Amino acid sequence: MRLSSKLARVAPATTIALNERAMAMRRAGQDVVNFTVGEPDFPTPEHVRQAGIQAIETGHTKYTPAAGTEDLKEAICRKLLRDQGLQYERSQIVVSSGGKNSIYNLLFVTCEDGDEVLVPAPYWVSYTEMVKLVGAEPVVLPTTAETTFKITPDQLKAAITPRTKLLMLNSPCNPTGTVYSRAELEGLAAVIADAGIFVISDELYEKILYDGATHHSLAAFNARMYDLTLVVNGLSKAYAMTGWRLGYAAGPRPIMAGASKFQGQTVNHPSSITQYAGVAALNGPEDFIQQMVHEFHRRRDAIVERLNRMDGVSCVRPEGAFYVFPDVSAYTGRRTPAGQRITGSLDLSMYLLEERKVATVPGIAFGAEGFIRISYATSMEVIVRGLDRIEEGLAQLHE
Ligand SMILES: *Cc1c(COP(=O)(O)O)cnc(C)c1O
Repeated sequence: MRLSSKLARVAPATTIALNERAMAMRRAGQDVVNFTVGEPDFPTPEHVRQAGIQAIETGHTKYTPAAGTEDLKEAICRKLLRDQGLQYERSQIVVSSGGKNSIYNLLFVTCEDGDEVLVPAPYWVSYTEMVKLVGAEPVVLPTTAETTFKITPDQLKAAITPRTKLLMLNSPCNPTGTVYSRAELEGLAAVIADAGIFVISDELYEKILYDGATHHSLAAFNARMYDLTLVVNGLSKAYAMTGWRLGYAAGPRPIMAGASKFQGQTVNHPSSITQYAGVAALNGPEDFIQQMVHEFHRRRDAIVERLNRMDGVSCVRPEGAFYVFPDVSAYTGRRTPAGQRITGSLDLSMYLLEERKVATVPGIAFGAEGFIRISYATSMEVIVRGLDRIEEGLAQLHE
C-alpha cells in the first residue's frame, strides 16, 4: 500500500530513534549510558501528582472544552502576566497535548501550501518536519558556535521573502542551550515588525537558566509584537511533566479561535486529569524548580569543563536548557578501530552507541553537521561514566 505523500516528506524523529535503540540495548542486558533524554530526571512534584489523583477520585474524567478548562486557561493567563507581563484573556489561550501539539496546531492554522517558515539552525528536530506536514517549506537559517548559535537581524531580514509566513524562535534553545538577550531580541523584533511576519516563540525552557541569564518573550515588547507573536509554552520541562502531555499557546484571538476549531476536530483536548494537575502546577509553589535548576547548573559546569579538555572537542557554555552541543567535527573523516570511516555526526553517534555504549544525538538531526547533543538530565555519576566512554571512544578514532 502507498502511504500519503505528505507523510513521505517527513523524517522520523532521530532523537526518538536513538533513544529507542539505547533502550533496546538496555533491555538486552547491555549497560548503556543514555545522553539522548529530553526530559528532566526529576519526579513530577508531589502536589501536582496529588491533584491528578484527586481529579480521578472526584470524577473529573469526562470531556472538557476543546481549548481547555476555564480554570486551567485562567491559571495560564495569570502565569503569563506574572512571569512575562503579558495580558491575555482566556479566549486567547488554547491548551494542547504538549507544546509540540501546540506548535503543530499553530502551523496548521497559519500556513498555506508553499508558505515559507524560517527555522534558525541548530533547531529542535520537529520544527522542519511539522512545517512540511502542513504543506509549508522550512527555510533554514544556519548559525555557528562563534556567534553562540544566534541569528542576527541582518540575516533574518535577508531571508524574508513575500512567501515568508513566520519565524520559529526557541530561546532558551534545544539543542544548544542558547539564550537570546533582550537587546538581541529587540533587534530581531524590529525586523519581524517591519516585515509583518508571525513568530512562534517556543518558551518551553523559560525557567531553566544559568549565570543570571533572563528570559524575554517577544510578545511583551510592544503592541505590534504582541499581535505578531504566538507564544508556546508547556509544563513538560519546568514541572517535570513530560508524560502528562500538557502545553499551551497564547496569541491573537482569530488565530487562537482557529487553533481551538482545528483541535476540536482532531485531538479535542488533553486528558482532563492532566488539566487538573496542570492547574495545581501553575498555581503552586515553584521552589522545586530552583532546586532542579541548581542541580542542572552544577552538571553543566562539570560537563562543559570536561568536554573542553578533550582532544578535538570544543563546547560553548550554554546559558539555558539542559543540553550541551559540542563541536566534534575534528573527528569527521577519521576511522574506527574496525576501519570504518566516520563521515559525519550520525556515524559518530552510531559508533559511540554501538562500540562504547553511550547514546548521544547527532547534530545532523538538528540541522548542524559536526556536532552532537548531550543531555545532562541525568545524574552526575552517569555523566562522568558517559564522558569517560566518549573520551575513550574518540581517542580510538584514527586518521
Ligand atoms: C520538549 C520541547 C517542546 C515540547 O515538548 P512537549 O513535551 O510536547 O510539551 C517544545 N519545544 C522544544 C524545543 C522542546 O525541547
